[in-house]
Amino acid sequence: MRPEILNPLFAEIDTLEGVGPKLRKPLEKLGLERLKDLAYHLPDRFVLRRTVDNLDEASVGEQIVVALTPTEHQAPKGRGPFRVLAQDALGNICALTYFGRASYTAKKLLPVGEKRWVAGKLDQYGQMLQIVHPDHVTGDSAELTGKLVEPVYPLAEGLTQPRIAGLAAQALAKLPQLAEWIEPGLLDRQKWAPWRDALLLAHKDEHAGARDRLAYDELLANSLALMLVKESNRNRRGQPLRGDGSLRSRLQLPFGLTGAQQRAIGEIEGDMAQSSPMLRLLQGDVGSGKTVVALEAMLTAVEAGTQAALLAPTEILARQHYETIRQLAAPTGVNVALFTGRDKGRARESILMGLMDGSIHIVVGTHAIFQEAVSYRNLAMVVIDEQHRFGVGQRLMLTQKGKAAPHCLAMTATPIPRSLTLAQYGEMEVSRLDEMPPGRQAIDTRVVSIDRLADVVAGVERHLASGQQAYWVCPMVRENEGEDLAAAEARFATLQARLGDAVVLVHGQLKPELKDAVMERFARGEAKLLVATTVIEVGVDVPAATLIVVEQAERFGLAQLHQLRGRVGRGSEKSVCLLLRGEQLSETGRKRLALLRETQDGFRIAEADLELRGGGELLGTRQSGDAPFNIATLDQIQRLLPLAHDDARLLIERDGGLASQRGEAARMLLYLFERDWGVQLLRGG
Ligand code: ADP
Ligand code: MG
Repeated sequence: MRPEILNPLFAEIDTLEGVGPKLRKPLEKLGLERLKDLAYHLPDRFVLRRTVDNLDEASVGEQIVVALTPTEHQAPKGRGPFRVLAQDALGNICALTYFGRASYTAKKLLPVGEKRWVAGKLDQYGQMLQIVHPDHVTGDSAELTGKLVEPVYPLAEGLTQPRIAGLAAQALAKLPQLAEWIEPGLLDRQKWAPWRDALLLAHKDEHAGARDRLAYDELLANSLALMLVKESNRNRRGQPLRGDGSLRSRLQLPFGLTGAQQRAIGEIEGDMAQSSPMLRLLQGDVGSGKTVVALEAMLTAVEAGTQAALLAPTEILARQHYETIRQLAAPTGVNVALFTGRDKGRARESILMGLMDGSIHIVVGTHAIFQEAVSYRNLAMVVIDEQHRFGVGQRLMLTQKGKAAPHCLAMTATPIPRSLTLAQYGEMEVSRLDEMPPGRQAIDTRVVSIDRLADVVAGVERHLASGQQAYWVCPMVRENEGEDLAAAEARFATLQARLGDAVVLVHGQLKPELKDAVMERFARGEAKLLVATTVIEVGVDVPAATLIVVEQAERFGLAQLHQLRGRVGRGSEKSVCLLLRGEQLSETGRKRLALLRETQDGFRIAEADLELRGGGELLGTRQSGDAPFNIATLDQIQRLLPLAHDDARLLIERDGGLASQRGEAARMLLYLFERDWGVQLLRGG
């Protein structure tokens, strides 16, 4: 249960004065649902204003506060603006310019002959000085002295600065006083303010220290929670598994393992032989050969007389894995089954029986394999594919199935820079497959301007005519989902008109069964060109697809582009990736695309992307709704995460139960950042 003192912060936002159904929507769009979200909705920047006695003291472009007396109202000519001419103390004339409906209020605010204090940005219009839409107009100078530094908040349509500032102020007024969770020595050294003060400061002023402290809190909460997972895992009883090699020796792999694969397998074997359950991440780029590593681990579990499960995030991936594993494992004689939510009746019963009596050794499936109705004879090893789709909370639930805690191997193809791996997967040990199997053909990557669309389409046509398949990806970025979808559908229509029924479309808003059906047609080679809006399922494997076109490539994250490119280059044929770019491309945009052309090493791309500061998507997954951090910026993560990590480790070492005074405060922190599962682990023991 969340401590009561935090309740006001977790109150719904519409408990605030002035928030009705109409405001709710734009607020939600900004991710503002509870009071605490508002409190943490920090200004993007601040307007700094200077009070001047007259306009001679100000320069054009400056944000000022000045006393002006209106001399004349100029009605709009045609569709022009409404202007109030006004005079400063020296008789300099300045126009206060209003467009549209704002002119009505302006008339009332600025009566001729009455002195007003005006805040805004001084501009020049022809020979005339002007302020367009002054930010504030008041008869009382005292009102503006508090507004010399004014926050500028991120907005959404339907919200204004004063509105959001007012709401933030209401939320800030309800901040409780919380006991300090940061180590006192560190707090001193950094000269950080207490939590509540830091929040207040961060809204008031460009206060780097306050921002750092708030970011640090978030990083600390995360490190602490992950460490609690690690710790509680260490205290759980698992089954030490030692295989005798009898099954693995019967595998007939058509290739030798890479050094990286051998290393990973060794590390996994080492973990599995321990009595505390394994918690390991296998990180390896698309095509690095994670499946075989997983298979070796699962066979080890079977050799030791137990069962293993492989969990995939989608039905399609589960099927694909099943086929691969079944074929690879055929010479060993182990019984591999596929289990998804779609199995019904007899088939379902028979699998459930097999899992219960142990005649099924390895099960591959979606999260259905962890439903309550499913029980295992002795499940001792769980592999989770495409780990990033599952949050830590879910990860935890998945491993509660066995009698003893099963060993857990998570796999991800998302290359994450080392510094961020800690933030995202800090509770796990990491094995990296940083070496590709030999003989991979490089994917020919080219950046092409959208001007040459006609050539590209002709190229795709030739490609299909030669009997190969292709992907065509259109962007799908959240904020204009509707437009993006329309654009993709339009592109699909034109491609279909030109290339016929061999063209199919998938997007995230299709029903899952429909989407699967389309994907399967493509995988079977019946459909030749797959137009996709959302990221094509990570891991989907169609070796005959050897061309991928990505439209508006500059709108994708580098890591995402890298993943997309990984859809091709899976067979023996030479593959091509065409990145279509818009007409305008920023310098960074150009560099990013150039980097993709240059290298195919996912880890290198991830590190470089971080440097190019496009790193948003590295945290992931902000797009797939699983971002680890809302407050901490990339720079703060790099500077402060190591500190937070050490701080968390020390705290857990000294007070693993979080029972001390500081431990109590740290619990509060976990609730504040909704890492409750960390606290729950403490209870669970
Ligand atoms: P991913 O890491 O993306 O899951 P996969 O396990 O699907 O990669 O492997 C990609 C392809 O590489 C598969 O066809 C697999 O059989 C092959 N492969 C895996 N390991 C090796 C190796 N050591 N040498 C050659 N090919 C390999
Ligand atoms: Mg894979």
